Amino acid sequence: MLNTQDYLKILVEDIHSTVVATIDRYGHPVTRCIDMMLYDDNGVYFLTAKGKEFYTQLMEQRYISLSAISGKRCISLAGSVENIGREKLDEIFLKNAYMQDIYPGNTRSALEVFRICAAQGNFFDISDPGHVTRGTFAIGKASPETGGYKISGRCNGCGKCLSVCPQNCIDLSRTPAVIDQNRCLHCGNCVPVCPAGAIAKEM
Ligand code: SF4
Ligand code: SF4
Repeated sequence: MLNTQDYLKILVEDIHSTVVATIDRYGHPVTRCIDMMLYDDNGVYFLTAKGKEFYTQLMEQRYISLSAISGKRCISLAGSVENIGREKLDEIFLKNAYMQDIYPGNTRSALEVFRICAAQGNFFDISDPGHVTRGTFAIGKASPETGGYKISGRCNGCGKCLSVCPQNCIDLSRTPAVIDQNRCLHCGNCVPVCPAGAIAKEM
């Protein structure tokens, strides 16, 4: 079972380049590619230049959504960001040496660092398509997403739900049956076939 630091390591060290969304001046979603530079117990760090529209949006909105994919693994993260100025800037340049060519010498003074400080994350791994795994995690004061499809005590163990489940992830050895939350696709197939009305999506 992976924990938050495991997911952040995948995000920063394995995937690294992400697509980050904010809202533009017209109220439309806008995205750009941003590298995630560092992580620690306090969050994830990235940087941008003060002259960019992205910087202005971060300062006004203080919130981002991002998605990133590498191979068959993907992470999404949404939550609050805070500007920490030049704190960690040199550490980022040490750890990510390519930045020294993009912003050589003192030109790095154009940059400021942001920390994703409270966010909910989702992880998907479809390397084995017949055995998809998913996970949720949280940074800072945010709580991991709960919800998903759950089976109530009205279940009679008939097994109709399992017959339409693409991931075969419903345990019928117990009554009520139990959905494996680390494998459920949230497709909803099981809901209409249940004669007992026992399956519902929790928000
Ligand atoms: S279809 Fe409904 S009643 Fe039948 S095993 Fe699944 S949850 Fe239980
Ligand atoms: S929502 Fe889809 S994947 Fe999840 S248990 Fe139901 S049928 Fe299976």
